[in-house]
Amino acid sequence: MRLVLLGAPGAGKGTQAKKLIEKYGIPQISTGDILRKAVSDGTSLGKEAKSYMDKGELVPDKVVIGLIEERLGQNDTKKGYILDGFPRNTAQAETLDRMLNDLGMPLDLALSVDVPKEDLLKRLTGRRTCNNCQQMYNVYYSPPKKNGICDKCGSELFQRDDDKEETIRKRLDVYESQTLPLIDYYKKKGMLKSISGTGSIEEIFSKVCAAIAK
Ligand code: AMP
Repeated sequence: MRLVLLGAPGAGKGTQAKKLIEKYGIPQISTGDILRKAVSDGTSLGKEAKSYMDKGELVPDKVVIGLIEERLGQNDTKKGYILDGFPRNTAQAETLDRMLNDLGMPLDLALSVDVPKEDLLKRLTGRRTCNNCQQMYNVYYSPPKKNGICDKCGSELFQRDDDKEETIRKRLDVYESQTLPLIDYYKKKGMLKSISGTGSIEEIFSKVCAAIAK
């Protein structure tokens, strides 16, 4: 299965993708995670990307498309994958379609996880991630048992640099102006399904699975 997860920052794409990995045994490909790794490794690509990420802007298409091309060339993608955070604009979507058509392996589905704008801010400001196992928490909705510590592995939790309120507002603006048009893009291709991203993680996951199974 080759799936694109669409949705605003904070819609829960990453959380659902992690559950899909377990269920379907296919990798999550998150351009945000790949870029954050490049930043923490201090690579030249990471240094270039950081200046955009810190401002809540999109990293240039050339950079992310290069990363995706390389990642999709790896062996673990043969059975399928979940794209999370890519494509982010129409140019990226068109390039992806060309790339996958050339390989004879087009996308199966674009699944949009819809969350009202007023919920997104709280979801994003409350978001914490384990710096070891990447388990995600939210201090308002799904806090860890012990403040700042991962339930699963006992490591420290961190807040992403771009989950600060001012950057979040910019990211939401960028989403509306650049990424939201992808809903129409995939709808026109007859590939779009939408589900509500409100409710418990498990409730949303069953809607995700039902949409995939149809
Ligand atoms: P995310 O973890 O998906 O919210 O991404 C965090 C940041 O990484 C975004 O705000 C962008 O600066 C950058 N980024 C991630 N994916 C892309 C993409 N497909 N195109 C451009 N920039 C991206």
